[in-house]
Amino acid sequence: MSEEPLIFIDGVKKWFPIKTGMLSSSKSFVRAVDGVNLSVKKGETLGIVGESGCGKTTLGRVLLGLIPITEGSIKYNGVDIRDMKNRDVRKKMQIVFQDPGGSMNPRMSVRSIVGEPLIVNGMSDGAELTKIVAELLDSVGLNRKHMTRFPHEFSGGQKQRIAVARALALNPEFILLDEPTSALDVSVQAQVLNLLEEIQTEKDLTFVFITHSLNVVHHISDRVAVMYLGKIVELADTIDLFESPSHPYTHALLSAIPEISVEDNKERIVLSGDVPSPANPPSGCRFHTRCPIAKEGVCDTDEPEFRELSEGHFVSCHFPVDAGKSLPIFNE
Ligand code: SF4
Repeated sequence: MSEEPLIFIDGVKKWFPIKTGMLSSSKSFVRAVDGVNLSVKKGETLGIVGESGCGKTTLGRVLLGLIPITEGSIKYNGVDIRDMKNRDVRKKMQIVFQDPGGSMNPRMSVRSIVGEPLIVNGMSDGAELTKIVAELLDSVGLNRKHMTRFPHEFSGGQKQRIAVARALALNPEFILLDEPTSALDVSVQAQVLNLLEEIQTEKDLTFVFITHSLNVVHHISDRVAVMYLGKIVELADTIDLFESPSHPYTHALLSAIPEISVEDNKERIVLSGDVPSPANPPSGCRFHTRCPIAKEGVCDTDEPEFRELSEGHFVSCHFPVDAGKSLPIFNE
């Protein structure tokens, strides 16, 4: 893995307007992504983890330029991704969706699905296309003879392999994996994760892996970014984050990982209340309404900076938990 960033995200915001009455002059927004700074290093897998509605999928979409950003900039190898005319950049960035079946036209054969990016870009057709599709199917562990079949003839895991083959068709450098295993059985999840790791090594790919599963992120990521209500609250190397989490939200997420043990006496941190609305985020630290160690007069008024606690370990909290310590309780 190189230290050089492939993708550089600077102060990115994505706000969606909320439709109100025709005569209303007030404008409200859902602040799905609200000021994210992040870089993705060449050859790494960066996991982005958080609860549903935290903005991780929107961040992925803006990262690929699929939806326009409200503010900030995203650079891919130094090129602004808003420069949509630059097709060479677009070809290097691909995506694998959560629901493999939903991302495929049921009336298209596997050959047409996997070969479509090559046809659309005028890069191949005819016998040459068949040969390339066959090689792509080989690379994801599918039988090349099945290229005449249709999506409904495959299992969920096989469909996700087809989706991976399609993402590889244009020889990308970067793939956004948006919950690619959450719709699959656990045994199939492991197979798909292993396939992704093999392909990454073989083709020197960079991944951003979006998931709500900490087990999956622990298995596959080099670094992990924890997202809460449109912001990154903690970022660190995977081992560092799992062994020495600093943000109270990360502590709560990690305490919720189920463990199979007869002596399972791990204390779980149960967060009170729901995730606040991204249309009206809390003042100060966004997590203060649920944080078990929030301090009145500080956390509810002052927004914490996203600062580096130790090399490569960033956190956005006024009272980060010391390395290796468990979450203290201040306000009881
Ligand atoms: Fe909790 Fe305060 Fe840290 Fe926010 S800044 S996570 S409320 S301790």
